[in-house]
Amino acid sequence: MFDYLIVGAGLYGSVCAHELNKKGKKVLVIEKRSHIAGNAFTENNDGIQVHKYGAHIFHTNDKKIWDYVNSFVEFNRFTNSPLANYEGELYNLPFNMNTFYKLWGVKTPKEALDVINEQRKELGDKEPANLEEKAISLVGRDIYEKLIKGYTEKQWGRKASDLPAFIINRLPVRMTYDNNYFSDRYQGIPIGGYTKMVDKMLEGIEVRLGIDFLKNKLELSKLADKIIYTGPIDEYFDYCYGLLEYRSLRFESERLNIENYQGNAVINYTEANIPFTRIIEHKHFDPIDTKHTIITKEYPSEWQKGDEPYYPVNNVKNMNLFNKYRKLASEEKKVIFGGRLAEYKYYDMHQVISSALYFLNGENDHE
Ligand code: UDP
Repeated sequence: MFDYLIVGAGLYGSVCAHELNKKGKKVLVIEKRSHIAGNAFTENNDGIQVHKYGAHIFHTNDKKIWDYVNSFVEFNRFTNSPLANYEGELYNLPFNMNTFYKLWGVKTPKEALDVINEQRKELGDKEPANLEEKAISLVGRDIYEKLIKGYTEKQWGRKASDLPAFIINRLPVRMTYDNNYFSDRYQGIPIGGYTKMVDKMLEGIEVRLGIDFLKNKLELSKLADKIIYTGPIDEYFDYCYGLLEYRSLRFESERLNIENYQGNAVINYTEANIPFTRIIEHKHFDPIDTKHTIITKEYPSEWQKGDEPYYPVNNVKNMNLFNKYRKLASEEKKVIFGGRLAEYKYYDMHQVISSALYFLNGENDHE
């Protein structure tokens, strides 16, 4: 018998497992896949740490979270500075003075703002009601057409005018020559990969891989007093109200016998007629001298039952559905629902970790 059964060995489950184990609880982690670390999973390919489920770059403003992850593994000084390729031309991301210089030849923030303000006028006084309007209000139509529209519509499979504005809040606009994608104070990649970090979190804890909780819910539930479930919330309830929508991704990886393919970890392809959204070259995340390199093209796709869910589509329709599931979840007294899939949230890694720690400390207060 265990105190806690944790379903899913991703970041939420692994942080919970670590903290509960530290408090002396008896914990069992079960995981459907054949590996730990969820979508942050990295796999060693002759020295190169391959991000098997897409690029994962750790960043946070919260010193407590930064110290927390660094207590498991050392982080390198990786700074995400992606490029955008639009019709063969390269532009710096996020939108900053380098981007504006390349687009319009402007050299000062005042000159750049003059161009942007002129282009913003098309919206008048209107509050941006969707992603398209939000983007134009932030950077004007020129950048919207070249660097946002195609990428966004490929990634989400929906028109930018049908998407919520908040998605684009993730992308900073800077009036300096600073190509750092994130504005957070702390940033890096665990040296040796995320799997190493999660492995360290799970040290001394029993983990059983290849076990699908939902296939054997009744029996497995008997193993513990409490369950922390980190899988999709709608699947837990057998999709009784219908399916929550996700975007999924398909990855095409190649091993090339050259040292350096694109000179950068991430290059986005922002035009609509190139079917992938980006190419990542894994060795640049955690630099290593090798004669080979691994690149991955990322193709977005609509999620269907059985696919890996990646991005929740947090529009009104799905949020209403999610709230119905959340109500059911609150009635499951023995089960706690947490993490990206159970909370149906577009979480970054630092937010998942923070959410797990917050939940545990909150719960601790009641003990
Ligand atoms: N985005 C864009 N052009 C780009 C990169 C991002 O328009 O070159 C927009 C797009 O709508 C995307 C959002 O910004 O969904 C957030 O992108 P980010 O790279 O932060 O998402 P991630 O896939 O890393 O979670």
